[in-house]
Amino acid sequence: MTATRRLRREPPAFRHVEVRRVEPLNPRMVRVTLGGAELAGFTVEQPAASVRVLLPTPGGADLVVPSWNGNEFLLPDGRRPTIRTLTPWRFDPDALELDVGIVVHGGGVASDWALSAEPGEPAAISGPGRGYTVDGDAPAYLVAGDETAIPAITQVLDAIPDATPVEVRVEVAHSDGRLALPEYPGATVEWCDLQPGAPPGDALAAAVRDVELPDGTRVWAAGEAAAVQRIRRHLFDDCGLPRAQTSVRGYWKHGRAGDGDDDV
Ligand SMILES: Cc1cc2nc3c(=O)[nH]c(=O)nc-3n(C[C@H](O)[C@H](O)[C@H](O)COP(=O)(O)OP(=O)(O)OC[C@H]3O[C@@H](n4cnc5c(N)ncnc54)[C@H](O)[C@@H]3O)c2cc1C
Repeated sequence: MTATRRLRREPPAFRHVEVRRVEPLNPRMVRVTLGGAELAGFTVEQPAASVRVLLPTPGGADLVVPSWNGNEFLLPDGRRPTIRTLTPWRFDPDALELDVGIVVHGGGVASDWALSAEPGEPAAISGPGRGYTVDGDAPAYLVAGDETAIPAITQVLDAIPDATPVEVRVEVAHSDGRLALPEYPGATVEWCDLQPGAPPGDALAAAVRDVELPDGTRVWAAGEAAAVQRIRRHLFDDCGLPRAQTSVRGYWKHGRAGDGDDDV
């Protein structure tokens, strides 16, 4: 029998951009502003959406835009390009500028790029990919994530009605990863420090376990894949939350480069 390979839907074409500004928000997060004429027509309609960002290959010369082979992006020489998934944090359609917030975790291409990128350097983005639909009638929300989820968390909080009570839990790998979030009237924000040596997401999973979830609570959570799997099990098995009330997404995998996210 011949194995048939399932073809995947081709993602939106890459748009060339260049680095406009680079601004450290704290020692763990850098805001990179990307801009360019090809961002005309780009729109982000939902919070917690995603973009694929094509980065220059470390040590490589120019940015080479890959093509879609029906299953993945490949460079003309067959190598895999350096693509990472990020949250389109703020888009300014007048200036044609898109902000992304990149966690500086000390061992990844995007993390290193955020520290070294200079205005004028090329990149490209494809997207946006699907985001999250906030239920404006929900009686309460739990919003949880690690540092990679901070851009998405701010967007989800923006979209939840002011009168809705929201418990927010954010795990930081170092206490200097805390960011001053805008004021959200209904939100109670707690930062959780990951203990040295603990697996990523450990403090987040513990913090989520301590949150009381009134009937009908909606949950949005994102972070390290194994940690969010623990959170999922707690919500479904211990709390009996219906899946339809939750959106829990792995944003990265401990020990593996890239995020393998199929939904962008
Ligand atoms: C929908 C979606 C939205 C996302 N939004 C953002 C965002 O706005 N900002 C953001 O920074 N990330 C975001 N991420 C996560 C980001 O794609 C991954 O963290 C990615 O692996 C970072 O790439 P890198 O090149 O720095 O590290 P990689 O080269 O991919 O990984 C190298 C090593 O670093 C580890 N690693 C990766 N990320 C982290 C981390 N945060 N902390 C500690 N170790 C890590 C890996 O496990 C691997 O061992 C998002 C992911 C998804 C799926």
